Amino acid sequence: MDQAITFQPAAAPSPIVGHRVELQLLTTLKCNLKCSYCSLGVGEVLGSQTELRYGIDQLGRFADTHLRGKEVVVTFYGGEPTLNRPMMGAVMQRFAHWRYQLQTNGTLLDDLPAEVLSRLSNVLVSIDGGEAITDGYRGRGVYRQVLKNLRAVRGAIGGSVTARVTWGNPATSFDEIDALVADDSPFDYLYWQFVADEQYGGDSCERRRAVLVQLVERFFERSDRLYPLIPLMGIVRNKLLPGRAQELTAGRTQCRVSTHLLNVMPDGNIYPCPDMMYVPAMRMGSIQGNWLKPSPLQQTPAMPCSGCEAYAWCRGNCMKNLYLGYVKNDLRYRAHVVEPICELLRFIGREVDRHDPRAWFAALPLPLRRQITDCEVYEYVEVMP
Ligand code: SF4
Ligand code: SF4
Repeated sequence: MDQAITFQPAAAPSPIVGHRVELQLLTTLKCNLKCSYCSLGVGEVLGSQTELRYGIDQLGRFADTHLRGKEVVVTFYGGEPTLNRPMMGAVMQRFAHWRYQLQTNGTLLDDLPAEVLSRLSNVLVSIDGGEAITDGYRGRGVYRQVLKNLRAVRGAIGGSVTARVTWGNPATSFDEIDALVADDSPFDYLYWQFVADEQYGGDSCERRRAVLVQLVERFFERSDRLYPLIPLMGIVRNKLLPGRAQELTAGRTQCRVSTHLLNVMPDGNIYPCPDMMYVPAMRMGSIQGNWLKPSPLQQTPAMPCSGCEAYAWCRGNCMKNLYLGYVKNDLRYRAHVVEPICELLRFIGREVDRHDPRAWFAALPLPLRRQITDCEVYEYVEVMP
């Protein structure tokens, strides 16, 4: 008997690379602080959108169309995301099976309901180092207020708490960073990123290198406990197990912008990098329009990574910096920001090598090895500084 053969059109390949996706939902572009280096100040993004222009049903339709079958992590982002608590609660309720993270300045954490706190897998709290430097950038009293809030709510937070340090000031000392992961600190981990600003003149790189030497020294000092600095943990992991640097991001940048990071502006437009939401060429989708295309922020031959000694474990650190320095050919930015940061990164790599990371790893108890290889926080931050 003849049987009718019907052909199904092949499903279009997903614009998202891999099985995971991070939806960075900017709940508002309002902020209650005025940090002097805020990256959203570039292109006058900060404060430009205070109302959400899409509804939860439109987000649901977008998720059904583009995120089906993916493991979804939401990061509530801003502005200061806790200024729009109703949106956080509504999203958590509607998409109860997703994972949640909060990126916050920490000043309003104690206003969040216990139900919301308990559902957070990680809280990233922005801080700039010690009290004087943090208050200098963020306003008087902010450092103490953030630590007080964190101590008050720490027991109610379901997951980890990570200090997110923008290392802007060359005066930042080893002691300031060390204090943020001390035994009495409310932070479980610390992630730092070198500031994307012209802060690398004079002796400032030398001063940073002196602190880095101490941090790496302290990291390898003990094998019975972990010094929980994510960039050092990640670099050691990547050096020992280079495949791990590639697993979640298909060998592209570990900050996820080339594969599976979707920054959703309050107006519903989608961009890969939260620092480039003012560049029209970076727009890659829309919630209301229900469309998504692959990230436009990718490695190009103009970038120097393939010939760099760090590439196997760095994978192209910050694509925004590389794009501005080598695609837009901003020679000033390249010389004063991108190259000094890359040089610092290569320096860390050499410092790590000096401490025989393989032998250190071999001596670790299994739970600590697992922290190095599988720490969940790698999924929430850029890993490289
Ligand atoms: S250090 Fe710089 S040039 Fe080298 S791989 Fe990383 S981003 Fe690329
Ligand atoms: S590290 Fe990634 S997400 Fe962060 S600014 Fe650079 S490109 Fe954007």
